[in-house]
Amino acid sequence: MGAETIFALASGSGRAGVAVLRLSGPGAGAALTALSRRPLPVARRASRVRLWEASGDLLDDGLALWFPAPASFTGEDVVELHTHGGRAVVAAVSDALVALGLRPAEPGEFSRRAFHNDKLDLTAAEAIADLVDAETAAQRRQALRQLDGELADLYDGWRTALMRALAYFEAAIDFPDEDLPPGVVAEVWAQVRGLQDAVTAHLAEGSRGERLRQGLHVAILGAPNVGKSSLLNRLARREAAIVSAKAGTTRDVVEVHLDLGGYPVQLADTAGLREAAEDIEEEGIRRALARWETADLGIVVFDGGRLPELDPVSLGLLDTRSIVVINKADLASAIPATLQDHPVVAVSAVSGQGIAALETQIEAAAAALLGQGTAPVPTRARHRSALAECIAALGRARQAPLTELAAEDLRLAVRALGRITGRVDVEDILDVIFRDFCIGK
Ligand code: GDP
Repeated sequence: MGAETIFALASGSGRAGVAVLRLSGPGAGAALTALSRRPLPVARRASRVRLWEASGDLLDDGLALWFPAPASFTGEDVVELHTHGGRAVVAAVSDALVALGLRPAEPGEFSRRAFHNDKLDLTAAEAIADLVDAETAAQRRQALRQLDGELADLYDGWRTALMRALAYFEAAIDFPDEDLPPGVVAEVWAQVRGLQDAVTAHLAEGSRGERLRQGLHVAILGAPNVGKSSLLNRLARREAAIVSAKAGTTRDVVEVHLDLGGYPVQLADTAGLREAAEDIEEEGIRRALARWETADLGIVVFDGGRLPELDPVSLGLLDTRSIVVINKADLASAIPATLQDHPVVAVSAVSGQGIAALETQIEAAAAALLGQGTAPVPTRARHRSALAECIAALGRARQAPLTELAAEDLRLAVRALGRITGRVDVEDILDVIFRDFCIGK
């Protein structure tokens, strides 16, 4: 791994005050001395350097940091060059690095090398990606906790405990004449059951962590002309922290990303629902309903100007995920406080009346769905499927008629956990634990 020396722009591309280029691999130090025409600077300290082209032209004047292996992000020799951020500067330094035999890094290659050099486990590598993508405070906190090893520690702890249990069974298989002390077997099985319960409880946290990564899906639904688009615009405009907006056509789904109290929300406006619709509209309605099916929350909008008449199609959609909104409150006379047991928020998308109350409602719903307890939660589908596999294997182990079969299932359970963090070296660690045993010699 890592015979090649790679480099990449670590800061964002485009015009900026400073650009950071990161070099990793055995040739990183030599590249720095060649560019700076000076010996390597003091390790891990910023040093002012001038960078020179082979022709003798000055490339740029900046800072360099030298991180000799293994104390670096990748575990290899790493150099960071802080240059001026202009495109031409970055391009010229990159060309000079290529001329020195370095190669542009593939996406994720630095983290991949860090993983191979045991600097990161897979959950930490995922956390770095999440931290880079984090758009809201809650996403950032979740990613940081994961980077800090919250998930890795949990899974490694379970894995080690399971390996100890497995070692007892291995011992019983390998040394059938040596009787394990009475009670030990029951004790080990109790531990396995305890672990199965713990993993099951952890998995029961469901997709909360994933939802937080991806944002809560909130759909705005209602009959045509009730003011869905106006409401979306109003919510989007009021929020200082709109992070991105993707527009489709009005017949399609228009989506904006909001930061509500630190929680990421993907708010989607949908085509108006009506029963007798033309072809194109029908497609829009189909998409609206599909969006509703997968939404975490629905804002079902009614036209306050038409009260007491209420659109029956929209009424039919109300369920536990719904927040009922009566829009055009400026035109409404008497607004009911509840509709079919759902609390009602009266708003005017035009005047802004009631919008803050609606935001508070969405925020409360988001907090309930995404809110972080103290316990760590799985954050990817990949984690959840491995956990489910682990639970199934533990269940089989507990039913197994023979110690050999139970041991095999425990081994599969250990592997499933190991896959989450990327530690799959069951045999090695088993050897270590096994060696500590006093059975045999
Ligand atoms: P959509 O079809 O549900 O997306 O509805 P629009 O947002 O396009 O709004 C339909 C019409 O209702 C437009 O003429 C809006 O100006 C009007 N409208 C939207 N919200 C309000 C409101 O709060 N009060 C009043 N008086 N009119 C509104």
